[in-house]
Amino acid sequence: VQFYLKNISEKAHLNAFLEVYEEEALAAAQAIDQKIAQGKAGRLAGMVIGIKDVLCYANHEVNAASKILSTFQSQFTGTALQRLIDEDAIIIGRLNCDEFAMGSSNENSAYGPCLNELDNTRVPGGSSGGSAVAVQADLCLVSLGSDTGGSVRQPAAFCGIVGLKPTYSRISRWGLIAYASSFDTIGVFSKNIPDNALVLEIMAGADEHDSTVSKKPVPAYSSLLNFNKKAKVAYIKETIHSEGLNPEIKERTLATLEKLKQAGHEVEEVSFPYLDYILPTYYILTTAEASANLSRFDGVRYGHRSEATGDLESLYKKTRSEGFGEEVKRRIMLGTFVLSASYYDAYFTKAQKVRRLIKEKTEELLKDHDVLVMPTTPTVAFKLGEHSSNPLEMYLADLYTVQANVAGVPAISIPNGVDSQGLPIGLQIVGKAFDEATVFAFADYLM
Ligand code: GLN
Repeated sequence: VQFYLKNISEKAHLNAFLEVYEEEALAAAQAIDQKIAQGKAGRLAGMVIGIKDVLCYANHEVNAASKILSTFQSQFTGTALQRLIDEDAIIIGRLNCDEFAMGSSNENSAYGPCLNELDNTRVPGGSSGGSAVAVQADLCLVSLGSDTGGSVRQPAAFCGIVGLKPTYSRISRWGLIAYASSFDTIGVFSKNIPDNALVLEIMAGADEHDSTVSKKPVPAYSSLLNFNKKAKVAYIKETIHSEGLNPEIKERTLATLEKLKQAGHEVEEVSFPYLDYILPTYYILTTAEASANLSRFDGVRYGHRSEATGDLESLYKKTRSEGFGEEVKRRIMLGTFVLSASYYDAYFTKAQKVRRLIKEKTEELLKDHDVLVMPTTPTVAFKLGEHSSNPLEMYLADLYTVQANVAGVPAISIPNGVDSQGLPIGLQIVGKAFDEATVFAFADYLM
């Protein structure tokens, strides 16, 4: 804990932490030392973990990096986090992110951007930028993020670390502030696969507080990391040959596929004809869900309340106008539009149908293959401010990550070397629903 606290204070300019639980973490470490001495320590004894500012932790602030929740304290601890604490993990602080997990660069935080440690003029990715940088810069060993469209995998790729998005419904969402409920998953950042697998194994599984969580038994992922068979790998030609893909990322991805072939694995090119529909589908459905989820922040129940109000209507309007940032407002408006009576069928219903097509096609590709392999992102970490005035450009950062969320399947990003400027490149491995074991084992084999 002392090691990490020292790093946190030396690297405060990165703005990764919104709050550090210094005394608590030191006290927890001491208590766990005693447990270790008594032979009673949990499976995560001493693992120092940071949490994205969208996870509820009893008697601690949770702001979703928004002004509207400034000063709001959670009254309970979310299930996933509680399970880590029960195994003697040490929670060291709350991490910066894009407001309500909406963004791809961490520039939408009401508390300022977080910086990529490798190059402070570049973004760490988002929305879980603080969580990625915290692991990248050794400010904690493991961190939790959330992934609705790529928010764990994309920043993991930009920071050169490992980021997992499990199968939808594998981990309870109780205590995760909702962005788009049918896409949201808690995800894990780490520097290696065994740490990541162990943390998932402890967090996953049925929870009486969240009826959408799967009751399927949770495999002991961390002891199933031996990948000793001939893999059936597919890569999607539309991702590799897409116009916007950085040539160096393309080259590295193809080199990895070639290496797999040389090692005797089966590597097949497949077609996924819906790549162009993924982002529109994602942004119609997630903004719709967000507009409903964020209606609870009304100035009455949580956090910020405008001072300048006369009646209830103006209380809502002023609180929300003052409390929400630009991107969140844009999404609430978009979502309200696609759900409005005259446009519901043209946008929302249509997008639901396209989601089904994307899901079925993804499952079909995975039926004949162990994993799909593709770049995590079309570019390396971009400069701060480079895309912040153009939301459509920003949305392209998630071109390859969103498919796994739309389909609900697990995916991981692992480091795949660096470009000529030394910036990290990510490789994404997508697996069958609930087959995290194969995803982890294959990822570990490649690392
Ligand atoms: N960057 C994507 C978005 O802005 C994904 C966010 C996420 O996964 N939370 O919606």
